[in-house]
Amino acid sequence: MTTPIEKLTKILRLEAEKYQDRAVFGGLARYTDTWLQEAEAAFGLEAAGWVQAVADRLRAYSSLPDPAARKEAMAALLEMLQAAPPLRPPQREAKKDEREKRAASAPHAPAGARLAPTPATPAYARTGLDSPVTALQGVGPQQAKRLAKLGIHTIRDMLYLFPRRYDDYSQLKPINRIEYDEEVTIIAQVWDAGARETRGGGSLFKATLSDGTGFIEATWFNQSYLADRIKRGQQIAISGRVDEYLGCLCFNSPEWEPLEQELLHTARIVPVYPLTGGIHARWLRRLMKRTVDYWSKRLPDHLPVSVRQETGLLDLEMAIVQIHFPDNMEALEQARYRLAFDELFVLQIGLLRQRHQWRSAPGRPLPVDDATLRDFIRGLPFEPTHAQQRALRQIVADLRSDQPMNRLLQGDVGSGKTVVAAAAMALTVAANAQAALMAPTEILAEQHYQTISRLLEQMPGPSPTVRLLTGSVTGREREEIYTGLADGSVDVVVGTHALIQEGVQFKEMALAVIDEQHRFGVRQRAVLRQKGYNPHLLVMTATPIPRSLELTLWGHLDVSTIDEMPPGRKPVVTRLILPTERERAYIFVRNQIEKGRQAFIICPLVEESEKVEAKAAVEEHKRLQKHIFPDLRMGLLHGRMKGEEKEATMTRFAQGELDILVATSVVEVGIDVPNATVMLVEGADRFGLAQLHQFRGRVGRGKHASYCLLVSDSSSPEAQERLQAIEATNDGFALAQKDLELRGPGEFLGTRQSGFPDLKLASVTDLRLIEAAREAARRFFETDPELADPGNRLLARRVTQFWKGEGEGEGEGEVS
Ligand code: ADP
Ligand code: MG
Repeated sequence: MTTPIEKLTKILRLEAEKYQDRAVFGGLARYTDTWLQEAEAAFGLEAAGWVQAVADRLRAYSSLPDPAARKEAMAALLEMLQAAPPLRPPQREAKKDEREKRAASAPHAPAGARLAPTPATPAYARTGLDSPVTALQGVGPQQAKRLAKLGIHTIRDMLYLFPRRYDDYSQLKPINRIEYDEEVTIIAQVWDAGARETRGGGSLFKATLSDGTGFIEATWFNQSYLADRIKRGQQIAISGRVDEYLGCLCFNSPEWEPLEQELLHTARIVPVYPLTGGIHARWLRRLMKRTVDYWSKRLPDHLPVSVRQETGLLDLEMAIVQIHFPDNMEALEQARYRLAFDELFVLQIGLLRQRHQWRSAPGRPLPVDDATLRDFIRGLPFEPTHAQQRALRQIVADLRSDQPMNRLLQGDVGSGKTVVAAAAMALTVAANAQAALMAPTEILAEQHYQTISRLLEQMPGPSPTVRLLTGSVTGREREEIYTGLADGSVDVVVGTHALIQEGVQFKEMALAVIDEQHRFGVRQRAVLRQKGYNPHLLVMTATPIPRSLELTLWGHLDVSTIDEMPPGRKPVVTRLILPTERERAYIFVRNQIEKGRQAFIICPLVEESEKVEAKAAVEEHKRLQKHIFPDLRMGLLHGRMKGEEKEATMTRFAQGELDILVATSVVEVGIDVPNATVMLVEGADRFGLAQLHQFRGRVGRGKHASYCLLVSDSSSPEAQERLQAIEATNDGFALAQKDLELRGPGEFLGTRQSGFPDLKLASVTDLRLIEAAREAARRFFETDPELADPGNRLLARRVTQFWKGEGEGEGEGEVS
């Protein structure tokens, strides 16, 4: 019997005579599945990766445009066949049965089953890619330890250690053309080199270089070991900024490297890798070259062929080769694009899978009656905005559906999210189920409790029972609420973390609402949801994020955006204040207070620690009280105060017993004091734009004109640009976009989104690429949502790896 290898080799040889795709009837693409089956049977799971890689190439072959491309693909295929893994041993019949059994049972798995678990040691591991780096020639345990510091453990990791930059030796300059102060690379011969002592006792190593067009000197301080490295007659490459000394151009401590002919000729754009102690650039680059040469061919492409064909992306092998040793800048760009696409595609698949799992759990459709909704709206003291109505319509459709809602309601501070949430809660109660709302602080919970009670009371019919459950509710009262929730006599509960304590049980919680969702951890949100049976979930945020981030962070949620403010809202007047104008700002604050208004004064952000920040706030409060506003009633709020203390102060301020509240950033979260009209922020340049916008949202909530005064200690152009942006617009989305651009995703997201997978190449600001990847993922996902198709095994594994623990833990895996 001929093996699948022999058979395919024969076919390919035939094909290689003319490259017309006529060697088998119907072409190679059509033949692929037949071959795949035979090969899988013959090689077994151990070689699944390799078999799949061959199949991918076969399938792609038919669509190659011209004989040249086919010839190249053919050569690669034949080479792969020569590197075939061993056939599996003869006891295969038994195993095969087993496998068939497993395959046959798969379609009966419940719709919501998670992704088929991938074997711990993946199929192709034994063929090498997941072997430790010590399997590479020239890498011993010592070097392996050092490579581990760069995050490299396996051969695969090695292929995914991307250069941090490239030196473009194709843009070399001759010595006689270089100019003062430019960044250049030259290649030259060492004419003379030597070290001498300097007067200060250090050493100076000097080399005279020539490339035939001129001479230039390079010097290095205190690097006497160079004497053994840079020798007369040698060819070296030098990169650095051109300096001047006594009227002659020169280099001071430039980067240098002995010339490697191979690098120069085969990869004129030279990769520069991150390094660590004991790992030298040349050594790593040479190791990388060998690794890439050999292993990139053996790296099976996890991207489904259909996706690659639709998108016209480079194949993985080519992308890996080109990202390390690019032929030219275009090829490098294409490689980057492909690999960045990979990251985003895999990320999106993870999000879609999460969403799929949520949605495939049976939910409880609520019989929502249009009349009830009309009653609710009629009872409002105002007309809902168009944006609110749109969000409501979306929510109603979700509540009626038998798939649990997973919706994010985003809208700027003051855009009226609470009313929308209250409507959803009213509809839930009208459908004879319970609703819960969780907020991050007691003050907020209290505020929501009052708003929601008021709104629900004015519905026709008997008033629903609404209760407040926070940490300060204890003893009998708490027991009473617990009982009421368990027997269903409490319809709505509003609270803090107290809601997710063990004792809390619901009879039938059908809607869970979470305000300021980023203030809660993944776990906490999950716990609340588990208090019901797949309840509908509505999360709210007042920190708008740009669309690109929305897709990457919240791709698993449906999003409703309230992008319209209630009418008649006066924008908060925002002014940048120089430190020298501070006195005037204080006078302004005093004037407002004399008119009966109140003010916030925010202390500068202290990165060091909350303790230091609290101390600074205490001092500022003392200073203001003593020297500036001795006759006014002032309160203090900082992060080191106990919960009750904070609450008490906030309450006094809200009730008008304090004129001025001095606070650290703890005041950021949505507190509503309509009588407060001034927000004065000290050290405004240290806060992010989104945060400043949040501060500003604390005022302008009543009928009075309001002001935000930003005092900046920094006059740097960057700080000015950021602060001018906030001065110029009241639009939270525009500011979020600007903030993201100015500070980059790391700082923008801060620690809030920790646990989010690491993107090496893709940028969360690249909306076009993100949308392309999302669209491709969406289309692909429809064909195989469980990633159960054997052909998608590699992708499944990649998704799991990428998301690491995320999405795999105890039935929960939110990422935002
Ligand atoms: P958010 O939670 O989005 O910051 P809120 O829901 O607290 O905003 O609403 C802010 C204020 O605006 C509240 O006092 C609320 O009563 C009021 N409000 C909400 N919607 C409207 C509307 N359509 N017209 C007028 N006022 C509204
Ligand atoms: Mg709110």
